[in-house]
Amino acid sequence: MSKTIFEKVISREIKADIVYEDNWCIAFHDINPQAPVHVLLVTKKVIPKLSEASEEDAELLGHLMLKVADVTHKLNIKDNFRVVINNGPMACQTVYHLHIHILSGRMFHWPPG
Ligand code: AMP
Repeated sequence: MSKTIFEKVISREIKADIVYEDNWCIAFHDINPQAPVHVLLVTKKVIPKLSEASEEDAELLGHLMLKVADVTHKLNIKDNFRVVINNGPMACQTVYHLHIHILSGRMFHWPPG
């Protein structure tokens, strides 16, 4: 299996503006930001999409949610942000390696479209 683009960021084969990293996940600025702040929080384990996560990933998924709080605190956006996980083609997922979009710095609308 070929590496995902995010595995190449993790291994430093591709440069990224990294804002956080630990043994389980990495966060870096999106290359094509959809808001003034657009960071991706990516699992180091390659789970292609959220719907393919299993019971054994429970601790990892919990960790990821808590790191959203840490990263938003670090970026000074802790009171106003949106998180998005695109799952599958109809949700416009393009990179099949689990990641959370963290967006902030502008007004968001609902429904999201
Ligand atoms: P998704 O469409 O939910 O799979 O999101 C994938 C995201 O990865 C998109 O917002 C892309 O702009 C972003 N992306 C793709 N390649 C890179 C890269 N090398 N560095 C940072 N972000 C990237």
